[in-house]
Amino acid sequence: MDSSLIPPDELKFLLRWLEAGRADDDWDTIDAILDLSASIASDAFLPHYKESDRTEPTLTPTGVHILPAIGAALREYANAGFFAAGFDEQLGGLGLSAVVTYAILAQFSAANIATAAYPMLTAANARLIATFGSAAQIEQFALPQIAGHWFGTMCLSEPQAGSSLGDILTRATAEGKDTLGERFRLTGNKMWISGGDQDVSDNIIHLVLAKIPQADGSLPPGTKGISLFIVPKVLPDGQRNDIAIAGLNHKMGYRGTSNCLLNFGETIGATGWLIGEPGKGIAQMFQMMNEARIAVGVGAAALGFRGHRISLCYAQERSQGRLAGGHTGLPVAIFEHPDIKWMLLAQKAYTEGALGLCLYCASLVDRPQETDAGALLSLLTPVAKTWSAEYCLKANDLAIQIHGGYGYTRDFDVEQLYRDNRLNAIHEGTTGIQAADLLGRKILRDGPFAFDVATTRVMACVAEASKNSRLAGRTEALTDAWRSVVDTVNVLRSVERQTALDNATMFLRAFGHTIVAWLWIEQILAAERAESEGRVSARFVHGKERACRYFFDCELPKVRVWLAVVSAMTDVASGASIDEFC
Ligand SMILES: Cc1cc2nc3c(=O)[nH]c(=O)nc-3n(C[C@H](O)[C@H](O)[C@H](O)COP(=O)(O)OP(=O)(O)OC[C@H]3O[C@@H](n4cnc5c(N)ncnc54)[C@H](O)[C@@H]3O)c2cc1C
Repeated sequence: MDSSLIPPDELKFLLRWLEAGRADDDWDTIDAILDLSASIASDAFLPHYKESDRTEPTLTPTGVHILPAIGAALREYANAGFFAAGFDEQLGGLGLSAVVTYAILAQFSAANIATAAYPMLTAANARLIATFGSAAQIEQFALPQIAGHWFGTMCLSEPQAGSSLGDILTRATAEGKDTLGERFRLTGNKMWISGGDQDVSDNIIHLVLAKIPQADGSLPPGTKGISLFIVPKVLPDGQRNDIAIAGLNHKMGYRGTSNCLLNFGETIGATGWLIGEPGKGIAQMFQMMNEARIAVGVGAAALGFRGHRISLCYAQERSQGRLAGGHTGLPVAIFEHPDIKWMLLAQKAYTEGALGLCLYCASLVDRPQETDAGALLSLLTPVAKTWSAEYCLKANDLAIQIHGGYGYTRDFDVEQLYRDNRLNAIHEGTTGIQAADLLGRKILRDGPFAFDVATTRVMACVAEASKNSRLAGRTEALTDAWRSVVDTVNVLRSVERQTALDNATMFLRAFGHTIVAWLWIEQILAAERAESEGRVSARFVHGKERACRYFFDCELPKVRVWLAVVSAMTDVASGASIDEFC
């Protein structure tokens, strides 16, 4: 296995922390699956990482052509059963938990996030159909995706409607009914569709948001009028559906993932089948969006992780300068310079913190019967997506800095990791949209339940950690930070909604830091338990301990400053007029 990937021991540690109740026998199977994913990631995904960046998808008369190595890697992935990893056995799946499935995704994303995007979207698409589709729809459209023969997409965005999905214009006109359900003709343009076309799977199943016109022919306003349709590239009778590839987007990163402007219904209208009832499209699509949001966080963490591993290696190999006060003798490895150690520590704290947070969220997905878990998952999903995307991008930035000028060239992978990671704060809802979701919806609108669950868990962690003398000082710091968050939320609850939301992104940053600090303490407690049971080495625990200390000493103090700005409800930004920027 390539040493720049996530060491399976890291994933095994995280899974044992998050799935503590599992039987020993299960772990043998899970460990073998993690080792297999590391080996396929290393042998089939990593080797074309740079080539798929250089050789972008191209538009040909027959459709989009992508690098054949991507198809070969995904066939290997399918043969190992990974498309089916998280599905129940009756659907042909392996029945693995969400947290194990996301751990597998982390490994493939570290190796090649653009190639890993195809199966990530496909599994989420098939799961949506399996949840809301009819038996016939599941048989026809979900099973071939679970087997890895067909791939899937999500078609939400339009050229004029990105963040604001209520404004989509794609329309669906009823045509009749057949064995696959109510059939419609769709017309409209879908922008930014990842995997929108490619030549490595036999078919592509598009999940398309569209509006069914009202009696007067107008489209229903807002998100309540949106329905969801299954629109395959190739229809069940073998005919091509009326879907034209109007263009390919040429992206900064993630270049191996084709990204298309699709025109549905340029001639007769694209055939699609309604999923469930009309008007439920956004609610249904939220299942796929939430799954993809955690996956985006996992991907961001994985890219940050790989950048950290590469820059750690470089810092030991590159000699430059002498330690302060020394003018003679051989140059030292740059690792010896404290500034480099700062940058390595920050990367470790961000990326292992983000991976812990995202897998913690995945472990909540596995507890659908627990009300507390569902509420906490809903609260933490925007944080897992956004905090990870923002801070693991910073980690990639530091990885470039450690490489000096070499990091700015295409000879090293760190610049590509940065470009790839830049997307993660944009797609699946931008940082600004996630911040408004966290504060506006999850905290202010949905009532105090989820927030109270978080408070209970943070305080339980503090109670356990305060018995541990090695964590002295950090439990108090976490308690203080959480109190500041609670005080700020109370202030925001007492003011007008728009005023409260003016500084939502800064609130998300502060809340995210506090949540990650909490989960860092949880990781330390788990690491110490693992060491006492002989599952991890003392070196592993010391590494975690050092990164946790960095986070508490250098990152957590920022929370107080950010929250002071949020609580003061400054109008420095919201009050700015366009003239003041001229
Ligand atoms: C490479 C790539 C892959 C993608 N893949 C897919 C895909 O597979 N399927 C799909 O459907 N879509 C996909 N998208 C679309 C993606 O989800 C959108 O780009 C994203 O939702 C933002 O929409 P937009 O680009 O129209 O930006 P806009 O919505 O125009 O936003 C521009 C800026 O304004 C801010 N903004 C907008 N509204 C508000 C508001 N109400 N409050 C505060 N700030 C606001 C945003 O935060 C952002 O900073 C992809 C995008 C990219 C770039």
